[in-house]
Amino acid sequence: MFEMFYEAFEFTIGAMLAYLITRVPFLTFPRVKSWNQQFSPHPEPVFVDGHLIQRVLHMRLFYWLALVFAIIPATFGWLSIAHGSAPIGFGMWVVSGWLILSRVTSVISGEQATWNKLLAMELQIVINKCAGENPCCNLAYPLWEVTCVKCNTCGENLLNQPRPDLGRPRSDGWIAGFFRLLISDGRPIVASEEE
Ligand SMILES: [Zn+2]
Repeated sequence: MFEMFYEAFEFTIGAMLAYLITRVPFLTFPRVKSWNQQFSPHPEPVFVDGHLIQRVLHMRLFYWLALVFAIIPATFGWLSIAHGSAPIGFGMWVVSGWLILSRVTSVISGEQATWNKLLAMELQIVINKCAGENPCCNLAYPLWEVTCVKCNTCGENLLNQPRPDLGRPRSDGWIAGFFRLLISDGRPIVASEEE
């Protein structure tokens, strides 16, 4: 009986490790302080400009980098099954394998990632509209709020797109912030003050 619980415990440890490792790129890379000086601090609205589009594309890169990072727990899982603890190895295998499978099938089925090229294009259209001949008002100032992109001057809804996590250091601290990001995977949580 005890052995069974212990194996389940080991499996969970392996699964959690693999989950964490594959989230390292998006949890850590964009959150360096020097990398966020051009953005307003989390959770304030973000001004829509070229920097923001660049950031969306970077987040997209980190999202796909998880596939490369999945090789780490997959390899350690395999080694652990062969030479160490089988339940830990199996846990790592299941989670990294699931990540690879689900991301690859989402590409095949045409599902969009949280951060994608289309989103970057839509933001570019907002910038063009605000700077072009047909702006919403004379002082167009597009801000990405929690639920949509709005002009700060006239209040017009410029893009009905909830804001995903943009890699800014979290205002709720590293531990609580990371925990939320781990659960949400960076997707927008509308109806709350979360990114
Ligand atoms: Zn306006």
